[in-house]
Amino acid sequence: MIFDIIDLEPPIYRPPSEAKSFLFPITIGCSHNKCSFCAMYRSKTFRVRSNAEVDSDIDKASAYFKKVGLFPEKVFFIDGDALCAPTDTLLNACKRLNNTLPGLKQISLYATVKNVLEKSPEELKKMAENRLSLAYIGLESGCDTVLKKVAKGNTGDEVTLACLKLKEAGWKTSLIAMLGLGGREHSATHCEETSRIVCASRPDFFSFLSTTAVPGTPYFNQIKKGVFTPLSYKELLIEMRNILGGLKGLKDATTIFRANHVSNHFPLSGTLPQDVDKLLEVVNHWISSCPDDVFPDNNPYFL
Ligand code: SF4
Repeated sequence: MIFDIIDLEPPIYRPPSEAKSFLFPITIGCSHNKCSFCAMYRSKTFRVRSNAEVDSDIDKASAYFKKVGLFPEKVFFIDGDALCAPTDTLLNACKRLNNTLPGLKQISLYATVKNVLEKSPEELKKMAENRLSLAYIGLESGCDTVLKKVAKGNTGDEVTLACLKLKEAGWKTSLIAMLGLGGREHSATHCEETSRIVCASRPDFFSFLSTTAVPGTPYFNQIKKGVFTPLSYKELLIEMRNILGGLKGLKDATTIFRANHVSNHFPLSGTLPQDVDKLLEVVNHWISSCPDDVFPDNNPYFL
């Protein structure tokens, strides 16, 4: 197993669409590690791995793939925000992967808005030329009040700046929004502003996940203190409808939409903006048959 060969520090997370990718660590943990709802990397101390560690693991992995006669077409740089690593570190890893994995088509990672804005257009272009060309960005919400309360570290408009900067450099972008993040208190502006930012950012991929308050996180305490009131299934569906409805305004974009994260109880997919009406028909049907005041009970340990 590849997991026995390279140095992976659990827990490991990846987007659903990276299920068949070779998961590779350039960084450990998250350089931000402050979002109030996020429990993913709280147990890890952030660090960037050295070129020597990275090179040694890539060589071990490529020898393993050669032995089994199967090379991955995609690599995903795991943990919270691998794009914060120095450009030289990222390019060194990309070049070595391209040289040792025949048939490699794409390298991707999670990135924060700050990571993107800190890189120059030339650095991003160089990465894209070396197949590091897809960034998954947690938009979470387009509403600045919500973003501030959850300590996201950026505004909605900065998400747009980051997406357009990446696009200009030859990258694809995938935005993830969190249904229910602002609670009942901010639901209306959360939906309006999330649609607005997605329309302005023109991502190649857009997806939802449903907010789960994980015990031990600041967000769990924010719920207990009444900063945010959790949404019922029906209210989550109404947010889904309202955000999707606002995406009719997506211009000059073909955005693949998925709501297939494990936290979603209502999986849905399509292409935006052309499928918006079809998707709304499905969501409206779900809303009409959904009882009031039934709340999700996601197991936070299986997210
Ligand atoms: S930036 Fe991402 S990984 Fe880091 S704390 Fe926020 S949500 Fe979690």
